[in-house]
Amino acid sequence: MLRAEVKPWAACSPVRGATLPVMSFSRAMVLFAHPDDAEFFCGGTVARWSREGCDVHYVCATDGSAGSNEPGTTREAMREVREREMRAAADILGVASVSFLGEVDGFLEVTPNTRKKVTREVRRLRPDVLVAPDPSRLWSGSGYINHADHKAAGELALCAVMPDAPTRVMFQELEDEGLEPFEVPNLFLSAEEADTFVDITDTLAVKLKALSAHASQLGPDVEERVTARAREVGERAGCEFAEGFRGFRLTDDEDD
Ligand SMILES: [Zn+2]
Repeated sequence: MLRAEVKPWAACSPVRGATLPVMSFSRAMVLFAHPDDAEFFCGGTVARWSREGCDVHYVCATDGSAGSNEPGTTREAMREVREREMRAAADILGVASVSFLGEVDGFLEVTPNTRKKVTREVRRLRPDVLVAPDPSRLWSGSGYINHADHKAAGELALCAVMPDAPTRVMFQELEDEGLEPFEVPNLFLSAEEADTFVDITDTLAVKLKALSAHASQLGPDVEERVTARAREVGERAGCEFAEGFRGFRLTDDEDD
């Protein structure tokens, strides 16, 4: 079975409440639905990992073309704006590469075709950790219904972890592109019920700066909301600001 080359899980500043030790990765892949999603759910983590020498690769499933309700705005026009904003945000965070799968914003579905596209990226990048939205999140509290594309992106990540990326006969034609099966060793889902926390006290400012690159998307109070959320998660994690995940350690070939 092919394995990723994983750095030993580093024992730096243990985080209270976490079931996994704080860890370092060489290569991460972040899969998400819309061009600004990654900054919201893991921008501080991306900035921190990048600073620590991890190559973080972005894979955006849709084209972001539904990102405006202004009369007269076309999908074509939005697509261009949002790609530009996403590349600017990724640069600010130190992201190593940005890929778009080109699905239409608002209509992301889990199909054999989209599963194959995600599997291609996972087999190409061979990440030590895959970061994605929680596909089971339907809503938050009584004031937020989760976007259907977010759930689909999370489900696509799970499909890639099992069975698509590691199973040779799933999308066997990818072998013709030189892409061998790959077993994802670690999965971080951006979940409300977090058990794995990343201290973003030193990178919250750069997360906010990256978010500000999405000028077409932001309301006036985004900094306050994002900061308050990071503080709330930080309180659970035992640090000033944090991002939370549901962490899965899927292979057992390294020691704590
Ligand atoms: Zn989104």
